[in-house]
Amino acid sequence: MSPNPAELRARAAVLDDADPLAAHVARFVPGDDLVAYLDGNSLGRPVASVPAALETFVHTEWAGRLIRGWDELWLTRPAELGDRIGAACLGAASGQTIVADSTSVLIFKVLRAAIAARPGRDELVMLSDEFPTDRFIIERIGDDHGLTVRWVDAPLDAGITPELAAEVVGPRTIAALFSGVAYRSAWWADMPAVTATVQAAGALMIWDCSHAVGSVPLEFDAWGVDYAVGCSYKYLNGGPGAPAWAYVAARHHDTLRNPIPGWLGAAAPFSMIEGYSPAPGVASLVSGTPPILGMVALGEMLTLIEVAGIVAIREKSIALTSYAIELVDALIPAATVSTPRDAARRGSHLTIDHPNSAIAVQRLWAQGVIPDFRHPSGVRIGLSPLSTSFAEVERGIRALADALS
Ligand SMILES: *Cc1c(COP(=O)(O)O)cnc(C)c1O
Repeated sequence: MSPNPAELRARAAVLDDADPLAAHVARFVPGDDLVAYLDGNSLGRPVASVPAALETFVHTEWAGRLIRGWDELWLTRPAELGDRIGAACLGAASGQTIVADSTSVLIFKVLRAAIAARPGRDELVMLSDEFPTDRFIIERIGDDHGLTVRWVDAPLDAGITPELAAEVVGPRTIAALFSGVAYRSAWWADMPAVTATVQAAGALMIWDCSHAVGSVPLEFDAWGVDYAVGCSYKYLNGGPGAPAWAYVAARHHDTLRNPIPGWLGAAAPFSMIEGYSPAPGVASLVSGTPPILGMVALGEMLTLIEVAGIVAIREKSIALTSYAIELVDALIPAATVSTPRDAARRGSHLTIDHPNSAIAVQRLWAQGVIPDFRHPSGVRIGLSPLSTSFAEVERGIRALADALS
């Protein structure tokens, strides 16, 4: 027998009382009409210190230092923030992670770098249900370079496995690009095993960790990952349009080839010399002027993550998504949970399918209850561990149950 709605509701308070990270929930800017935010995996909420940090940036750094700011503060910031993401979230030693561009642009750059690093091979590998931008870019690169994209089909409520990867990689594979946590199903791949499978074929492993960074602990160095990219506006709360990050393992730095070589990824950016020679290490992945203003909020969230620790964040994430699944089972029996029920294979969101999803989500947004609609019949519930309380999950899913019925 599943617990009844009243029991489940009472449990929210018990879970919040026992939550060691509960104090963090108040460290985000409150929304005017916010009842329950269930979309932290699409756009994280602003940390409460962001307004003051932006004000300080404008006065002290921008107005205060003007053009001197580049030499004194900003040129090194993409690498400094990259190192902080690497240490707090990626299991990456310093010097391998850089903040730049958007995820889409970085996908293009690392795919092109991978092609340059595997001459003589002519296949790229991706899941057929991968996030659209990843698919669009790999298709275009395949067309432009005369390469074949080999599409892998996985069940919609799961994702890539070592077995599926083994079926498609081979001596022609340049690289496989998979999501660490799938954007729809939340499937958390067995990343070390998939990496090993891809590399056993002599191919490069590229992970898109847009939905994984800040929600699950990653160990890129230990797993031997080649390249990775991800967003900073989802669980890293960098704000709308905040720049993305890329990881390039140190062993690839000497041969790293940026397909958009720009002056600020060059060895001596302000020397205006003829001929491009790359900056050492992952910094050569930078092309044009880095979006420094867009990195302010990211820095504030990283401070919270550094204090809380990714292991505790992951524990809370499991508790939140497990509780959410219990609520869905009890309150929305007509919905299908299209997300792994095994917590070990699940990121920090869930997708449920129900025929009334589209209209229900539209109605909920107007009431300050904010999940996400995913075509054709999915409701995606993203539970950002530091900003979400169990009471909020209960409120949100109760409202969702009403709206769906
Ligand atoms: C959110 C997301 C992106 C976003 O790309 P942008 O260029 O930052 O808009 C890319 N890939 C995946 C898997 C995502 O979840």
